[in-house]
Amino acid sequence: SEVYLSGKWMPPREATISVFDRGFMFGDGIYEVTPFYRGKAFRLQDHLDRLKYCLAEIKIPFDLSILEPLMYEALSRAGLAASDAAVYVQISRGAAPRTHYFPETPKPTFLMYAFPVKLENFHEKRWKVLVSEDFRWQRCDIKSTALLANTMSNEQAVLRGYDENLLVRDGYFTEGSHSTAFFVSNGIIYTHPKSPHILSGITRKVVLEICRDLGIKFKEEAFPLDKISEVDDVFLTGTTTQITAVSLLQEKEQVLFQGEKGEITGRLQEEFLKRTRG
Ligand code: PMP
Repeated sequence: SEVYLSGKWMPPREATISVFDRGFMFGDGIYEVTPFYRGKAFRLQDHLDRLKYCLAEIKIPFDLSILEPLMYEALSRAGLAASDAAVYVQISRGAAPRTHYFPETPKPTFLMYAFPVKLENFHEKRWKVLVSEDFRWQRCDIKSTALLANTMSNEQAVLRGYDENLLVRDGYFTEGSHSTAFFVSNGIIYTHPKSPHILSGITRKVVLEICRDLGIKFKEEAFPLDKISEVDDVFLTGTTTQITAVSLLQEKEQVLFQGEKGEITGRLQEEFLKRTRG
């Protein structure tokens, strides 16, 4: 399987970057993961729009018009042209003498590859989730490759046998280390509003569209940790997470939530399956 690095297809072992690449030195770059269901892109424009937003926010000049055909080429070169898969795209500011300020004329490093994703069994999964402090920065709306706070907190969760971790900032749930969080309370779905404290998930957007279409009530409001006892159902969403039910929420030794998959989560999963499978 081949990767595409700054203009060329090559085997991964030949795909090398400069030690002075700002992606390597500073995490100065952004990324995107786009799902392909049986070889067909799902919400491609939303993913391209988010990539464009992130590039503009961190001021990396890059022409995205080359992307779509390259994504399909990545899939076919990986033998995934008709499979469930995802395409990873990463753009860093490229190699430059090491300064904190941006180089005047950056030469961005562009990486892309396709990888297989199992997208069938999400409705059977139940995740155990650890609740921990959100110690990330104030620009979580940028899909930055600088993910140390996300990886550190997820490592603690996985080390203890959990599937994911949910982050709390100033008493409110923000999101997971790599997923968006939804809480069902009294028949209403709550999810954090778009803000610099969360990544604006494409799956989040799809789920809210489904809620509108099915007449399920929702509020784009952060859910407080101290109201967790009023929650009937928790689920997480993401490109590879899809819609995954949470069976256990735990903070240190304390169980905050325990439950079977609720009716609303089940309905959303069913409709999501229809929309992704066409
Ligand atoms: N929040 C974070 C921190 C993420 O890394 C992701 C992506 N896996 C999401 C939310 C979900 O976003 P999306 O639905 O666009 O994959």
